[in-house]
Amino acid sequence: MTSTPVIRKIQLTRYRFPFDDVGHDLSFAMGPFYEPGGKGFRTVLGIRIYTDAGITGEYMSIAPGTFEQIQSFGPFLIGKNGLERELIYNQAKSILRKQDRMGIGPIDIALWDLAGKVHESPIYRLLGGYRDRLPAYASTYHADRTKGGLNSPEAYADFAEQCLSMGYKGFKIHSWAESNIQREIDTVNSVGNRVGGKMALMIDPCCVYDTFAEALAVGRACDEQQFFWYEDPMRDGGVSLFAHKQLRKMLSTPLLQGEHIHLVEAHVDMAIAESTDFWRADPEYDGGITGVMKIANAAEGFGMDLELHIAGPAQRHCMASMRNSNFYEMGLVHPKLSNIANPPVYKCDYSDQLESIDSDGCVGLPQGPGLGVEYDWEGVGKYQIAEFVID
Ligand SMILES: [Mg+2]
Repeated sequence: MTSTPVIRKIQLTRYRFPFDDVGHDLSFAMGPFYEPGGKGFRTVLGIRIYTDAGITGEYMSIAPGTFEQIQSFGPFLIGKNGLERELIYNQAKSILRKQDRMGIGPIDIALWDLAGKVHESPIYRLLGGYRDRLPAYASTYHADRTKGGLNSPEAYADFAEQCLSMGYKGFKIHSWAESNIQREIDTVNSVGNRVGGKMALMIDPCCVYDTFAEALAVGRACDEQQFFWYEDPMRDGGVSLFAHKQLRKMLSTPLLQGEHIHLVEAHVDMAIAESTDFWRADPEYDGGITGVMKIANAAEGFGMDLELHIAGPAQRHCMASMRNSNFYEMGLVHPKLSNIANPPVYKCDYSDQLESIDSDGCVGLPQGPGLGVEYDWEGVGKYQIAEFVID
């Protein structure tokens, strides 16, 4: 039995990874999109939690805005038992009560990595494994204006067909993110007519439709094409309990809400308000692996499913330990671009790219202790932009 790993130092390092051929245009798209010659980037926060047991908890986080929050509650962790995740989760929750509390997640994931290394086990086995293959869906970049990209409803259908032939069992449209409702409906129909019935289809407009009527119009197209879910359509930012309850009454397509509310209490309130069908959570946004498993168990108690946001090793360990979840989000994917949500931080062969699935459309679990990935701390050094040490 290893002695208690007491936390002695936390090293926070920020990196900025360049991404070629990615554009940003506030009047055009919500997120990164394909634009040859464009210069995009992705910010990553590297976390190393050093203990006096000589074991280090590590995680590279892509969640936005957590650097300052972690600096504010990090000093509390020094001298604490690094295995007391529940205590740390609850104390950080109080300290961050005036913020969105997204800082808890990356630290909790690094502490689970530590725990896995202490117990010499992959995290999903510590959580109580349910499965070791995860069915993935292809989750696209937002639309673009470029030939060969996702520049038309037909281009989405072509790409969906390509993903189907690779083995994907699901396909999610991140669309134009402009409120051009006819084009949105055309995209739903184009993809639905091409691959409907052969793979689960979803659309996530990322909260851009201006009016309730527009959200309803696209939702009715989803009904007609029997979409698997309809995610975050409205400008309220995905948080209005009343508006989503009303939308649910008028559509047959299941809604998926909850990406923009945080932690288990808000998710339970959303369910009690009858504002969503599928639940949504992300270990980076919702209190780490500790927080996501609380939400998964709460959803289970309501007899509902929890779909995890975006790809990553923490998501894989969580989903492997849940019965009530359908798909792993392989994203963002595109006919021409690599995944900007999967920056090159690994020394091992871990990967979340379009081609990272097997012929059954599944991904597996890293088998090493902790997260089971090896980070390339030296190799990423050239992208460092800031560092903060707590000791
Ligand atoms: Mg989303």
